[in-house]
Amino acid sequence: MIRIVLPFLVVSCFFSCKQEEEKAMDTTQQVEQEMEEPTKPEETEFYEPVPPTVNPVGQNGVPSDAIVLFDGVNMDEWMTVADSTAITWKLNDDKSMSVDRGDKNENATIQTKKVFGSTQLHIEWKSPEIIKGDGQNRGNSGIFLQGKYEVQVLDNNDNDTYVNGQVGSIYKQSVPLAKASVPTGEWNVYDIIYHAPEFDADGNKSKSATITVIHNGVLVQDHFEIKGTTEYIGWPKNQSHGKGPIQLQDHGSPVSYRNIWVREL
Ligand code: MG
Repeated sequence: MIRIVLPFLVVSCFFSCKQEEEKAMDTTQQVEQEMEEPTKPEETEFYEPVPPTVNPVGQNGVPSDAIVLFDGVNMDEWMTVADSTAITWKLNDDKSMSVDRGDKNENATIQTKKVFGSTQLHIEWKSPEIIKGDGQNRGNSGIFLQGKYEVQVLDNNDNDTYVNGQVGSIYKQSVPLAKASVPTGEWNVYDIIYHAPEFDADGNKSKSATITVIHNGVLVQDHFEIKGTTEYIGWPKNQSHGKGPIQLQDHGSPVSYRNIWVREL
């Protein structure tokens, strides 16, 4: 038996090794052909695709292709998470809105009526001027991308907490690169670049979501690969999902928001 099988193995290895070698040579030749260094300047100058023109300071200073989610006039783009009805938040004279449960004695987390995938999100927030509570109970809110992944909003000024839950963290997953808050009661700015996760036909995650967060002009999350849902207790979850709303968390503090707009990526 061995006498029959051994020569067969040797011969088949010879052919498959030869094939691999030929394939490798083909690839190398191809790369060399494609990578031949240009000798004229115009060979490295492209005229397509032409990017669209965006006015960076369109109406009210918002980029002309952005979707305005809140400009201080009304709260029509938002609804409650609890029962998809009109929100009870307070609309303020300074064109902001604040977490408020109104007459309802229930959580007042809100979400956009529109749903999004990958986005560039601009959002401004302010911790309550009257300092109340400590740790996670001081000026806590949060911005949930696709209703699942939280960028923490917290009044961390003279108020330490676990670092993967502090302001600018991806909650319980990624410590921010810096603490860049302005003084309590002043306006903070988050600019967020978010790429949604991808799932295969069987519902398994094939590509993680990524997030970059700039807090008051300071990079605090640098293309972080989100591990899954940002759970208070337990591990991140990765159930297949499509587009989802942007949510603003009610964590019992009257945090305010203003000037919210998004560009779909
Ligand atoms: Mg929070």
